[in-house]
Amino acid sequence: MSRKKITIVGAGNVGATAAHWAATKELGDIVLVDIIDGISQGKALDLAEAAPIDGFDSRIIGTNGYEETEGSDIVIITSGLARKPGMSREDLLQKNKEIIQSVTEQVVAKSPHCFIIMVSNPLDTMTYLALKASGFSKNRVMGMAGILDAARFQTFIAVELGVSVQDIQAMLLGGHGDDMVPLPRYSTVSGIPVTELLSQEQIERLVERTRKAGGEIVGLLKTGSAFYSPSAGAVAMAEAILKDTKRILPCCVYLKGEYGLTDICFGVPVKLGAGGVEEIVELRLNATEKEAVRRSAEGVKKSIDALGAL
Ligand code: NAD
Repeated sequence: MSRKKITIVGAGNVGATAAHWAATKELGDIVLVDIIDGISQGKALDLAEAAPIDGFDSRIIGTNGYEETEGSDIVIITSGLARKPGMSREDLLQKNKEIIQSVTEQVVAKSPHCFIIMVSNPLDTMTYLALKASGFSKNRVMGMAGILDAARFQTFIAVELGVSVQDIQAMLLGGHGDDMVPLPRYSTVSGIPVTELLSQEQIERLVERTRKAGGEIVGLLKTGSAFYSPSAGAVAMAEAILKDTKRILPCCVYLKGEYGLTDICFGVPVKLGAGGVEEIVELRLNATEKEAVRRSAEGVKKSIDALGAL
């Protein structure tokens, strides 16, 4: 079997940490790309020099261009700007639109057969943009958010019950924002629905903390946002595709009528394998859950519309 190649665009907090997870899991060789000269080269070299200590066998290089990315199997995109003081969400959207459009075009020119995993924010909108800019089929472009949001819900459930995170499964739908839709009815501890183990008040408190979990980290870090868990989420998706594991994970994907939604990238459970997004799983929702999905989709649609002409 030939060695797999993973390109990670953006060698900031999320990108460099994704390189770390992917390297220690020996998912393949890694090319780290950043626009700033030295950052990708320096972090790649540092990580490569950790390999003899930790004993992982991945070749890791850093670059400012796309030559070395040629023939990548997976491309994880984390490049982008964070919102600065005085910058509106709209300004940020336009800035990141330019970045993601140009990055996607350069990625696709060198790796026409890759799968793209988007991480940059606003996540659902940037996934949509990458899908359109790539010209790829919808099974090959996806965004990472649901795995992270579900993992946060799992963490809070584990702490609340004082049990291992290993036995907890959580599912959620929706856009990557405060309107995300955690699904307690579809979240379990060793097969037991959390609705059997926690009171309504406890569940509501954990759901609310999950919705605001990104902001909780920003509030603590002050100068950045979460990166260990988001990068672990992106690498989990890459692993499912590269190893053809067919895991069912919540991912942001293009919908064509599923959940009553069309022409939108939105978080839903999917089967991930060698074919990328191999299947979209449609859950039966009650009226409250349907309404929450509708509201979340409305927000995502608005953001996609704000992209303007593509
Ligand atoms: P960061 O600022 O640490 O890193 C971003 C990197 O992108 C920087 O090194 C920058 O130089 C690089 N970059 C900018 N323009 C580029 C270009 N045109 N080509 C190549 N590289 C370029 O930020 P971070 O904390 O790593 O976050 C990265 C992105 O991920 C942000 O958009 C953030 O909002 C998003 N994010 C998403 C999730 C999620 O759940 N989907 C979670 C956390 C962060």
